[in-house]
Amino acid sequence: MKKTKDREKPHFYCSKCGKEVPFNAEICPSCRTSFTKVMCPECHYSNEAKFFSRGCPVCGHMAPALSLKQKQQKAKLAVNKRDIVFLITLPILVILFVLLALLYLRS
Ligand SMILES: [Zn+2]
Ligand SMILES: [Zn+2]
Repeated sequence: MKKTKDREKPHFYCSKCGKEVPFNAEICPSCRTSFTKVMCPECHYSNEAKFFSRGCPVCGHMAPALSLKQKQQKAKLAVNKRDIVFLITLPILVILFVLLALLYLRS
């Protein structure tokens, strides 16, 4: 049980201008950079600010830097190729089926 460091609060620094910013700050009061995630400068673990309320959850570092919004997470391509193929082939199959049924009924 280590309770000696409980009183230490984590510090947050803007990764752009380096100024200390309040916990859960969404915008740097100094340079107006907007933050989305917090990154630990020690182990480079990044997550939402709430996970850093007691410092870095991975290495325990108490001074994580707020990372920039500019880090664009590659948006997972939600469009599944399978879905596209399915959406294209299904109507074609239905039309073919209807045509075949009509031909069959006429003959
Ligand atoms: Zn800043
Ligand atoms: Zn860390």
